[in-house]
Amino acid sequence: MDRLAKKNEWFARAEKVIPGGMYGHQSVKYLTEDFPLYFAKAKGTYLWDVDGSQYIDYVCGYGTNLFGYGNEQIERAAALQLQNIDTATGPSAVMVELAEALTRQVSHADWAMFCKNGSDATSMAMVISRAYRGKRKVLVARGTYHGASPWNVPYTTGITKEDRAHVVYFEYNDIESLDAAVKSVDGDVAAIYATPLRHEVLFDQFFPSVEYAHACRRLADEQEALLVVDEVRTGLRLSRDCSWSDWGVHPDLSCWGKAIGGGYAIAAVLGSDKAREAATNIFVTGSYWLSAVPMAAAIETLRLVRETDYLEHTKRLADKLRAGIAEQAERHGFELKQTGPSVMPQMLFAGDDELVSRGRAWASEVVKSGAYLHPWHNMFFTASHTDEDIARTLEATEAAFGALKQKSVALNRLDILDTVQR
Ligand code: PMP
Repeated sequence: MDRLAKKNEWFARAEKVIPGGMYGHQSVKYLTEDFPLYFAKAKGTYLWDVDGSQYIDYVCGYGTNLFGYGNEQIERAAALQLQNIDTATGPSAVMVELAEALTRQVSHADWAMFCKNGSDATSMAMVISRAYRGKRKVLVARGTYHGASPWNVPYTTGITKEDRAHVVYFEYNDIESLDAAVKSVDGDVAAIYATPLRHEVLFDQFFPSVEYAHACRRLADEQEALLVVDEVRTGLRLSRDCSWSDWGVHPDLSCWGKAIGGGYAIAAVLGSDKAREAATNIFVTGSYWLSAVPMAAAIETLRLVRETDYLEHTKRLADKLRAGIAEQAERHGFELKQTGPSVMPQMLFAGDDELVSRGRAWASEVVKSGAYLHPWHNMFFTASHTDEDIARTLEATEAAFGALKQKSVALNRLDILDTVQR
């Protein structure tokens, strides 16, 4: 049986027992048939699908590791912890140690609370913000992803207007728009949410101006509201601190997930003393939120963050891939926009149609040659990527540009565009 037939067989089995066979942005229905769906193994930079095909991965679990899959030091720390205690009647000592490590690492943070996913963290930050001064409105940049909770998920099916009743939208990186949003609910602002950069699917990424970051801080202060910086995607990828702290803008709350657990399920809200009482007064929990193994993995991840050159290494390799692909695209006569930080690259073809047909056709060719690039979601580098990975990937992208010139780009509708609120 060929690869596609095998994949279809898996999908047919899945469809019987999993609605749609798969859900969320990880669903392959948003990609092309050349992309694998179910995986069997992940190690370092590599993924293997259920058929044994190997890929150099640039999606990296959508950012869930900084040091590659199954990093030995992180795995050792997790395994040691597992010998003693993981999920139990109450928290373990590592919870305190991890909170200490995070508050040492992140300059604005005086305390930490833990949960499982980024959506838990951004929702917890909302509750803390409302508890802070008893205000209701949460200001969010239009189209910004803060998770899949009803107050923010970019789909409307199954969601009511009331789920978002107190969410007020403004335009990202637009101080006037933010100012107007604040004025429209003057006196009732609980929080201003911010992502360190604009990193939405299907759009070019960009950093906001430094003035915008400062305006978020100033307006939050004027309203006695909390500034919440959502680092779930960016956390520890651009900086060893909060991303905006390098600009002198310190949030009151920051949300973390993905990379902090080194592949293990853990997320966190970090807060400054100002928000401590509010955080003490709310009720939040989850059966697995206090699990010790992910906390031990996170402590080891933070040690690697402090003691290795992972940031510099990933940037060097990411710059190399970016330069290589830029040269190839130009030589083959394509205008490929590579935006955002090179370690979290977004690659979109200029003038591509709404369905990103050209991008999907190109990524499809790349994945057939063994490198997993995403056609419309930003990607992620890890410290386990090597010069050899980059060289092999550049061979795949070179072949893909060549194939793209030959290929007529006719692909199925991209379902995501039917329902995403743009
Ligand atoms: N905030 C941001 C900025 C994110 O990128 C994500 C996930 N992509 C989330 C929140 C939600 O995280 P999770 O999927 O772990 O719930």
